[in-house]
Amino acid sequence: MTLSNCDEIIELIPAFVLGALDAHEAAHVATHVAACSRCRAEAESFRDVVGLLPYAAGSLDPPPHVKRQLLARIAAASENAVAYPVQQPQRSTARIFLTGRWFAAALALMLALIVGLGAATFEARGRADQLAAELATSRQMLRAMEAQVAEIRRAAQTVEAQLTATQRELDETRTQLAASQRELQEVRALAGTDVQLVSFIVAPQTVSQLLGTTKHAPKEASARMFMQPGHNRLVLLIYGLKSAEPGKVYRLWLAKGDQAIAIGTVAVGPDGVAEFVVDAPEPMDAYDQVMITLDEVDTAARPSEEVIFEASL
Ligand SMILES: [Zn+2]
Repeated sequence: MTLSNCDEIIELIPAFVLGALDAHEAAHVATHVAACSRCRAEAESFRDVVGLLPYAAGSLDPPPHVKRQLLARIAAASENAVAYPVQQPQRSTARIFLTGRWFAAALALMLALIVGLGAATFEARGRADQLAAELATSRQMLRAMEAQVAEIRRAAQTVEAQLTATQRELDETRTQLAASQRELQEVRALAGTDVQLVSFIVAPQTVSQLLGTTKHAPKEASARMFMQPGHNRLVLLIYGLKSAEPGKVYRLWLAKGDQAIAIGTVAVGPDGVAEFVVDAPEPMDAYDQVMITLDEVDTAARPSEEVIFEASL
């Protein structure tokens, strides 16, 4: 094949650079461009423009029918553009009519871009749809997890509340148990005291003595003491005595000569009764006087003037 007309080749260059020619046409243009510096410069400058466009970088290889459609569209667009008032040069052999090579280049580029962008857009849209679907799934999972977390938190709060309630009940039970144990000990102590008291009182060697009342004693008050010769134990039964006022106590004293020893305090019950069992430091025979005084709580060094009961032994 002889060298073609340059104008004809130039018209094909945009499609050539975009790889939109069939093999025969491409070979035809390539042969001409290799030999013709003018058309080569044209092809190179056009390739530079194409190179600026990432979508037209040549990675796209549309099938032959797309190429044909593309060329047909270029041709159709060119025919429409014939009315464009630019003076056409003589181009009797040109297969397609163009108003100018840049117009053709722009059209070809635009179409290539549409194809490329279309594919890219389609691909991007597909990816976007996929991402959106994944996002929706993730959101659903997140919402489900949030719901589960909320439920677990609620359950934990309930358990915690129950635990607190149980702990409180346990504490209350412990307190009650401690109180019961204390009461039990008191009852046991009382029972023990009563047994000791009764067995001491009814023993054949026991002697009893009524204590004298003073002007400080209530009219109906009485006190009787029980003891055994050569024995340290002293049992007192008191009736008709009022409970001591706050800050005061009934105190038992044993005197030897002019020396009085505080033996203990006597608690009077609400019924006015006091039972008192005590072991003195020495056998009861060692003492020559007994008395019960109403004292200030903290004055155990010597008996107060307010003597309620007294007796010589
Ligand atoms: Zn040429």
